[in-house]
Amino acid sequence: MMIKIYNSLTQTIMPFETITPKRVTMYVCGPTVYGDIHLGNARPIIFFDVVKRYFSHVGYDVLLVSNITDVDDKIIDKAKELQVSEQSITKQYTEAFMDMTASLGSAFPDLMPKATEYVANMIEYIHDLIDQGYAYVRPSGVYFRVGRIEDYGILSKQNMQELNQGVRITLEDDKEDPRDFSIWKITDDGLRYESPWGQGRPGWHTECAVMNHEIFRGEIDIHGGGTDLKFPHHENEIAQTSAHDHHHIARYWMHVGRLDVNETKMSKSLGNITWVKDLIQVYDPLSFRFLMIGHHYRMPINYSEELMSQYSKEYDKIKRSLKKAFLTVSIAKAFTFDIDHELMDDFYTLMNDDFNTPNVTTLIYDLLKLMNKEKDVMRLAILYQTTKTILEILGLMPRYELTDDTLSLYKAWEQARQDKDYARADQLREKLSERGWM
Ligand SMILES: [Zn+2]
Repeated sequence: MMIKIYNSLTQTIMPFETITPKRVTMYVCGPTVYGDIHLGNARPIIFFDVVKRYFSHVGYDVLLVSNITDVDDKIIDKAKELQVSEQSITKQYTEAFMDMTASLGSAFPDLMPKATEYVANMIEYIHDLIDQGYAYVRPSGVYFRVGRIEDYGILSKQNMQELNQGVRITLEDDKEDPRDFSIWKITDDGLRYESPWGQGRPGWHTECAVMNHEIFRGEIDIHGGGTDLKFPHHENEIAQTSAHDHHHIARYWMHVGRLDVNETKMSKSLGNITWVKDLIQVYDPLSFRFLMIGHHYRMPINYSEELMSQYSKEYDKIKRSLKKAFLTVSIAKAFTFDIDHELMDDFYTLMNDDFNTPNVTTLIYDLLKLMNKEKDVMRLAILYQTTKTILEILGLMPRYELTDDTLSLYKAWEQARQDKDYARADQLREKLSERGWM
């Protein structure tokens, strides 16, 4: 059983071979905590959780690290705007981020390092880069010398000329080369730290490179994030790691596609944002997760109310079919842990093919159809268990509990049908349907 993954670095689908057998190390760029998360932010939170669940299910020991950026100009601006401390902003939005992660059915990463807890390490790291000639000090701060990196642009596939044209030169810049990026910003404004180069704060690209270095102490298997982070953020993480540690930061790069609205990016400046906290007031959060899983992770999603409502209806059908099967199996006391291995193998084949989750949703529909028409209760129990296993791996298994009340309704319905009291049977069926059990 070989897993194949599209590697953004090589732009090819490659067999997945871990550095250490049966172990996966993963780093996914996390949020800058100065605001609520919107549907676009939610996409990588859901996808990389599915990746972790799947690897764990097939027997890997997974270490997933996702950082919290809690020192940044945007945080400082927000704190000024609201006249509160940066810490109160980052505390509030870190909590909001955790709440939303949980409500979307995602587990927390194994480690969530905060940038502010690694500042001493960052200063040491920057010091090393200066010593080795990879960085230099200017009155405005410390800059990384991009020209020293031979394969700069390796991830984003931009050539040097394009990069030069793409970089805006601003007046306050005193860099050697317009492509050079800030790794320490000297400032007397906002949250700042003492350093050999003056008070200031680390650059965002350096934060991720340093936390990776400190936590993993070597090359990792997978580095992930949204596709919009490829350049400059991920490119600059690669550059610093090759300069400081003389190895690649990661073997595989996985980038999650954008979530658009009317073919344009969801962003604050365009005013087309849907916040996760608002969406989950209206829809079951797992139906949004189902929408994400219904699309291939590398493809852009063009989000709309219609699309959401369509997935909500589909997810409702899944829940009803599951509950109906569970009810039937429970009444017959036909519980089993057996699964249908052939159907499960179909699932593995799809997941191993660069996480082909859209086709997995088709497989789920096939399973529901089989369950809905199955007359043999033992076979139904096996199909139920198979579907449940797949949904659990995807984080899509709904929670429900069979109460005595529902059980007696169901028994009464069966009795009414036996008695050919169709009016009463219809009434009872309606009640069960209202509760989502039919
Ligand atoms: Zn990062």
